[in-house]
Amino acid sequence: MIYDFDFLRSGAIPPIVIIGSGPAGIVLAKTLAESGVSSLILEAGGLEWTDDIQDSARGKVVGDEYFDLGLSHLKYFGGSGNHWTGFCNLLDSIDFTKRHDIQGHPGWPIEKTDLDPFRTDANAILELQDLSSLELTPHLKEIEFGKSPPVVFSEKYFELFETSSDANVCLHSNVIALHAENGRVRRLTVANLHGDTLTVEPQTVVLCMGGIDNSRLLLWSNEVSTEPVVPDASTLGKYWHEHPHNVAGDVTLFEPIGTFSFPWNYVFYSPTEKAMREFGILNATVRVHLGADLPETSESRLMAIARRVVCANSLLADGVERVRGDGIACSTPIELVWEQEPRVENRVALSPTEKDAAGVPRPVLYWEKSPLDYHTAKVALELFGRYMAENGLGSVRAFDHIISATRHPVSGWMAGNHHMGGTRMAGRPSEGVVDADLKIFGMANAYVLGSSVFPTGGHANPTYTIVQLALRLGTHLASQA
Ligand SMILES: Cc1cc2nc3c(=O)[nH]c(=O)nc-3n(C[C@H](O)[C@H](O)[C@H](O)COP(=O)(O)OP(=O)(O)OC[C@H]3O[C@@H](n4cnc5c(N)ncnc54)[C@H](O)[C@@H]3O)c2cc1C
Repeated sequence: MIYDFDFLRSGAIPPIVIIGSGPAGIVLAKTLAESGVSSLILEAGGLEWTDDIQDSARGKVVGDEYFDLGLSHLKYFGGSGNHWTGFCNLLDSIDFTKRHDIQGHPGWPIEKTDLDPFRTDANAILELQDLSSLELTPHLKEIEFGKSPPVVFSEKYFELFETSSDANVCLHSNVIALHAENGRVRRLTVANLHGDTLTVEPQTVVLCMGGIDNSRLLLWSNEVSTEPVVPDASTLGKYWHEHPHNVAGDVTLFEPIGTFSFPWNYVFYSPTEKAMREFGILNATVRVHLGADLPETSESRLMAIARRVVCANSLLADGVERVRGDGIACSTPIELVWEQEPRVENRVALSPTEKDAAGVPRPVLYWEKSPLDYHTAKVALELFGRYMAENGLGSVRAFDHIISATRHPVSGWMAGNHHMGGTRMAGRPSEGVVDADLKIFGMANAYVLGSSVFPTGGHANPTYTIVQLALRLGTHLASQA
């Protein structure tokens, strides 16, 4: 059922309280409802965007240029799932493992096989087919990416919330603090837009507020709660990471490329596990954006030969580039999207001076790419360039900043709005905030869900993994109910 803030004054609170109604919260509530377990989502926003609620997302970024935090995630029913693009992929096995060749690369306390059982349901939710890949050389593979329509979770599951007595959401219910006593979260302070507050006493609580607000609310709760909600907060807010994006160069194609189909004519490549270990790099996607006016994979052989002749001669190529529209375009942009090293310096912190309208400190995001991040981008592009040259498929030109592996110029496209880390999963409290079941270390009844729990991010966009984790947590909580 769909309620508003006043419901909390008298309504019966279901056994599981979820904070946040993005993809994580909605899939969790749906999974629980399907097992006959009742939950209630507390959602800060209403059914639509409003400036006053969205204002609480604003914050400051220190370090590399980044998106305006006030727009980088959405605060209303459905969360950022209201404007995501729908690029989907699974993490690779190597993304879960501790990389002994890379210092401080922690690995996950679970393996890929722990999430595999949830693929069928995740595919159904995201409206995807199973994905595959093709090893081209020992160092490079072509990978298939999934494209969700994109599913707008708040629309797809609206009827469920309208009709089910087990899947409930309470709108305009902004949780402004958690309070712990004797190893349990006992109370939540919830505020509406007018500044009214009340208390909810959850049996079990799951934080699903996205990859910045999960850290932010726990950091703040640790300051205002008599007992800390995260008893060992040594990693809380820290090891935050993104997927840096950059236009890294271009390729002049001599032959059609691409085995898998994807909207907008993208072809995706990635280093193999062997390459990552051999060259000491992280995971990456090399995206060749063929685009509508550039060569199609199905283009005629004749056009490919014409391009080969024209584009091999740089003077001729320059001339053709100037006279676009004749069907021969020499260069095709290469976009890099890659894994970032989880570093303690990259973190979500609380502003010491600025608070939102509800009195919660605004977030300060420290975010900077490291030498390993730049090195990864360079090597991934080199591997792709070598493959194209050695197979006579095309000629790759890398931009100077990629070759020199230095600070990248920003062209408005510097990352993916993928907010990962801050409450990472770990084997012990000194290394992370939640355990392998996503339960906060030291709390008997509090869980965190979302990409904030990712210890590393691979090169896959995060929502697929978030959905798998939501299905897994829902199954776990239902088994305990
Ligand atoms: C422009 C854009 C494009 C993207 N494209 C892709 C893509 O192609 N592929 C992909 O995998 N990912 C993509 N993403 C990322 C994707 O949107 C996120 O991974 C996903 O939405 C995260 O889901 P979530 O439920 O964890 O958090 P969110 O979607 O952020 O939802 C969090 C919810 O919690 C609520 N909330 C926050 N604080 C409180 C509080 N204190 N009290 C109550 N409620 C609260 C918010 O209002 C919100 O509804 C994109 C993101 C953006 C911004």
